[in-house]
Amino acid sequence: MQMPFEYGEIAMIDQLIRPHFKGFKPYRSARSETQAAKIFLDANELSLGSPVSVDGVSLNRYPDPSQTSLREVFACRHGVSPERIFCGVGSDEIIDLLIRLLCEPGKDEVLILEPTYGVYRVQADVNAVHVSSIQLDAKFQIDVGKTLEAITSDTKMLFCCSPNNPTGNLLRTNDILELSSHVRGIVVVDEAYIDFAESSDQLVSLVERFENLAVLRTLSKAWGLAGIRLGYCVAHPELVSYLLRIKAPYSVNAVTSMLALSALRNEKFFAASVETVKRERARMAEALRNVESVREVYPSDANFLLVDFLDAGKAFDALIKQGIVVRRRSEPRLRSCLRITIGTPEENGFVLRTLARMK
Ligand SMILES: *Cc1c(COP(=O)(O)O)cnc(C)c1O
Repeated sequence: MQMPFEYGEIAMIDQLIRPHFKGFKPYRSARSETQAAKIFLDANELSLGSPVSVDGVSLNRYPDPSQTSLREVFACRHGVSPERIFCGVGSDEIIDLLIRLLCEPGKDEVLILEPTYGVYRVQADVNAVHVSSIQLDAKFQIDVGKTLEAITSDTKMLFCCSPNNPTGNLLRTNDILELSSHVRGIVVVDEAYIDFAESSDQLVSLVERFENLAVLRTLSKAWGLAGIRLGYCVAHPELVSYLLRIKAPYSVNAVTSMLALSALRNEKFFAASVETVKRERARMAEALRNVESVREVYPSDANFLLVDFLDAGKAFDALIKQGIVVRRRSEPRLRSCLRITIGTPEENGFVLRTLARMK
């Protein structure tokens, strides 16, 4: 085990990013020079307009390259400054950008805690970055001792998914914080499902105190906006400024921004959906525990249930025959499990009836 690393506030991020990004000159898009003008003839757009329209959006114009309005709204929600917010085309894009920013291919390492979200490994593979993996314990919690042993000076990133996909449980905050004080790199806490959690323990509120935490959020789950592709990261301002420099100039599009801003002004749908999902999750868990072919329903703080079946293949086939598709997992520990997303009350009822009727 190694001693905690100590770094000055700004130096920390500078010492973590790949060396060639230090003097990196980003692309200066036309619109990053000036926003206030009467006539825009700087970006080769079509001033005549567009053949289609979306209310409130000038589709013929390039969008704001630094997502100023969105970042202000997210910053306000979390009580941090907008310099701590970075927006991406889904949180998946941010995972890729973070790996690209921090990890030197063939040298640095990403540490993941499995079973977990598959995108971490895939994006590391895409970037030719080595992945080292530690298994979560029997209750899918972090094995702090084993994880600390796996951390080396080349560990540039540690991914902690809480609530974890596909197991559904929250990770213990103290475990994450302990790891963050021992890892030299960035601890990415993926809170994609946090809105469905019963506990209000959110790592996002600790980002200002623990400088190497980066928390990922998305509008794809509880906000019901997977189709617009918007995620964001709350992190150290220096990390955010590097992400802004390396991202594609106009990553988040104007329609997405407009729709996200109007969704965030209307919390009613969000609050009601979260309530319904939680209620249905409890009902499903209880009912599934009484289904003969079910061995175990794992506790969930997310919008899905991990269910262990006597014969997962048979359950999967029975559901498919009724036109219901759920997620099968290939890792050895989860081979007898299906991950079932909580649907509408009607859809959930159909799942229950199908499984209960299974011979
Ligand atoms: C669904 C999910 C996301 C969301 O990704 P987006 O690209 O924002 O849609 C992120 N992390 C985890 C663990 C997820 O399950």
